[in-house]
Amino acid sequence: MSGNDAVKTAKIVVWWDMKDCPIPEGYDARQVRPSIERACKKIGYSGPVSITAYADQTQTPAHHLQALSSTGVAVAHTISECTCKLMYEDIVEWRDHNPPPATMMIISDHVEGDFSWDLARLQQRTRYKLFMAYSVQTYKDLFLLRNAAWLWKKLLEEGGGAPLVAGGLSSAMFYCKSCKFRKHLSSYKHGREEFTSARWYTGLECVTKTWRRNYRVTPEHATAKIQVLWDMVNCPIPEGYDARLVRPSIEAAFKKIGYSGPVSITAYADYKETPHHHLVGLSSTGVDLAHTLYWYKGSRMYDDVRQWENDNPAPASVMLISDVDRDDYIPSLISRYLQKSNYNCFLAYSFRPCKMTVMLTSAEWLWESLLSVFSEKRRRHILKKCSENASTGMFYCKLCYDWDCESLDEFTKHLSRSKTHAREIGYSPKNKRIRKAPPK
Ligand SMILES: [Zn+2]
Ligand SMILES: [Zn+2]
Repeated sequence: MSGNDAVKTAKIVVWWDMKDCPIPEGYDARQVRPSIERACKKIGYSGPVSITAYADQTQTPAHHLQALSSTGVAVAHTISECTCKLMYEDIVEWRDHNPPPATMMIISDHVEGDFSWDLARLQQRTRYKLFMAYSVQTYKDLFLLRNAAWLWKKLLEEGGGAPLVAGGLSSAMFYCKSCKFRKHLSSYKHGREEFTSARWYTGLECVTKTWRRNYRVTPEHATAKIQVLWDMVNCPIPEGYDARLVRPSIEAAFKKIGYSGPVSITAYADYKETPHHHLVGLSSTGVDLAHTLYWYKGSRMYDDVRQWENDNPAPASVMLISDVDRDDYIPSLISRYLQKSNYNCFLAYSFRPCKMTVMLTSAEWLWESLLSVFSEKRRRHILKKCSENASTGMFYCKLCYDWDCESLDEFTKHLSRSKTHAREIGYSPKNKRIRKAPPK
């Protein structure tokens, strides 16, 4: 059985926030379980389903509690403000004890923010199928990969068949999340426990915040292909640095942590603003050059990441050399690929970001320290070898549809002569200068 087939019959575990996604007025609570089971079956998942319903159960009508438990739904009592945090803690704990394949289903409106950020990072290391249901759809957390999603009311409506015959299932568990064990919800101890914990149970705790960045290389990634996307505006070639050393420095950094697969590098820049010796140095060491303007750079790199995923089935690695924010769209996209398949990613930046990105990296570097791995003697040796066996990178113009060539002369001619580029106005964010195109 392939991994994909195995998960279709593996267990499905459901965490349900009853406040966000309540049982509708007049709805038979005994229908909740079969509705969820039916929705999963409809998309091919038929494993055993276990459900835990979280809410302030002192507010839940007794007939609902009874109906839920009679259909094997576990009922967990929480304080409304803490539901999200407690649910997340239970998810994290469950993941620790239940290796994939399995499907997680989260029924809640409060998955965005720290919840989805941390879950997306967990999913990049250990991949479960992830289903969602919600009353209100949010679009903020596009970096979290969902394998299926439902509107809660629709899911319940579609499941609404004939009422169940009672007594078919054994009754489920009741938990009190304030006391950590089953207790009568009206007891004195319970009330006191809730009062104290309400002050302590504040925000959700991100478990991946302390994850170290350097993971041991796995055998399947050690020799896999590595694609490097290098934003030369954020992370430029330092003054006086020989451009021919960029590729060997990147390769040496990979080798040092156990990655020896073939490395392709694409450098994105406005090549009308780049010194000619840099173009020569990069292309002679097999670095592909992609011409773009400051405004378009992000979208062109984004398109290329998508193309990369298309062309490179996992295992494979991607490296981003750029200054990124916590949930920029390129790291978000890479993070989704990592949640989907066994990919691996690296990051280099000109300064350490104040907030950790959602992308779960296997290693990170400061750009300038990555470039200075070699001693002076070693540099001379590498440069001598470079001039002996020069290779050529490809040249792309990301502003002209599908334009590429294999010669530097042709590339520079294209940039200086073609009508499109003659009118281009460069923009260098470093010095905020606006330059006119040079006269023809
Ligand atoms: Zn209690
Ligand atoms: Zn062009």
